Amino acid sequence: MNITERKKIEKKEEALTKKLKHQAQIDGLTGVYNRQHLDNELKIEIKRAKRYNRPLSLIMLDIDHFKEVNDRCGHQVGDWTLKKIAKSMKDVARATDFVGRYGGEEFIVVCTETAIDKALNLAKRMRKEIKKLRVLDKDGLLLKITASFGVAQYSESEDFDKLLANVDGALYEAKKEGRDRVYCAKD
Ligand code: GH3
Ligand code: MG
Ligand code: MG
Repeated sequence: MNITERKKIEKKEEALTKKLKHQAQIDGLTGVYNRQHLDNELKIEIKRAKRYNRPLSLIMLDIDHFKEVNDRCGHQVGDWTLKKIAKSMKDVARATDFVGRYGGEEFIVVCTETAIDKALNLAKRMRKEIKKLRVLDKDGLLLKITASFGVAQYSESEDFDKLLANVDGALYEAKKEGRDRVYCAKD
């Protein structure tokens, strides 16, 4: 094998490694980041926020009554809804935000360099975008899609678990208050 051929193979291997690395970070259904990658990024961003005293916020979203969407419209429409929601979130998010799927019908946005007021605005815009989605049930009836949001800002004394617990608590309040709303975590 001559040098040119070897270089060609090396280039191909490099491209393949890059592709595999990217695939390992992405959720197969929706094309946004997966939970493992989000966790990694969030840990890095917490360190950065702590070291340089920078603002960092987190948005957590859970689709409302999603079981009903599956039950009334079928699992395929449910999957389509998840893809559309991921796309809406990406459309609203800025280039510096990390959007990902955290679990079944739960998504997270890691908002770097972002204080709570801006993160709340982002969440509100995402809520409005998602609300525009419509699906048809098996009887041809239109079903509106909504989601509930928790938003929290990282504060210096917190760690990864505490920040996630805060945003999860806020999301729980949004659900409890009636869903289809954004709730801000208390300090
Ligand atoms: P709530 O408003 O309280 O969040 O109600 P919910 O129905 O959304 O919550 P619940 O946890 O009862 O149901 C979540 C549903 O999400 C059940 C599960 O089948 C569905 N789900 C999770 N992952 C997927 C997926 O990848 N595709 C589809 N189609 N459905 C999924
Ligand atoms: Mg859920
Ligand atoms: Mg839900």
